[in-house]
Amino acid sequence: SEYDRRVLSILANQSAVAIQNAKLYEYAVTDGLTELYIHKYFHHRLEKEMEKAKRFDRTISLIMFDIDHFKNFNDTYGHQVGDAALVHLSKILKSTMRLTDILARYGGEEFAVILVPDPKTEQTSDIVKDIAERLRKNIEATSLNLKSEKLKITVSIGVVSWYGEKRIDKDKLIKMADDVLYRAKREGRNRVCVW
Ligand code: GH3
Ligand code: MG
Ligand code: MG
Repeated sequence: SEYDRRVLSILANQSAVAIQNAKLYEYAVTDGLTELYIHKYFHHRLEKEMEKAKRFDRTISLIMFDIDHFKNFNDTYGHQVGDAALVHLSKILKSTMRLTDILARYGGEEFAVILVPDPKTEQTSDIVKDIAERLRKNIEATSLNLKSEKLKITVSIGVVSWYGEKRIDKDKLIKMADDVLYRAKREGRNRVCVW
């Protein structure tokens, strides 16, 4: 009936607005190059996930990594190839981690992953180290094919788990991941260090 048509039309219009808003939100929190979450969203989510983990008495972990000698890579192949390497790395990251993990581009060539608690897997430091090690190996093993060249990048990774310690807040946790990441750099790069 005409009445049904009008009701449906109103509902459809409202849904369209809701879908559009959701799309805009996704767009606002996503990095244009890599399609990973942006720095600001990462901070927001880490805070929320720490609150949730505390409430449900679960562990969460943070994996931070940085491309090795990337300045050299850019100087050798140019910034556009450097950008392609960032996209390449992001794809490996997405295919290695779980859908529920929060993947972010922390800065230029620095990345961060929040491993959210999963009832099925206990986040012991050995398990989290294995996950980071798998990521490191996948990046090392997958070359970026450009014309006739096969280019390789490696990353240095820092890992920290949070068991609900009160004295450790979001910023402290990031600092801890950063410290072990820089230990991985100092110890020779292309490796994982755990706090
Ligand atoms: P290290 O192993 O110590 O990390 O060496 P590095 O050269 O990677 O160190 P550094 O962090 O000083 O250099 C980062 C470089 O990453 C500098 C910059 O040219 C490059 N970079 C950052 N963001 C982007 C980007 O969006 N695109 C490209 N192509 N390069 C970027
Ligand atoms: Mg860096
Ligand atoms: Mg670097």
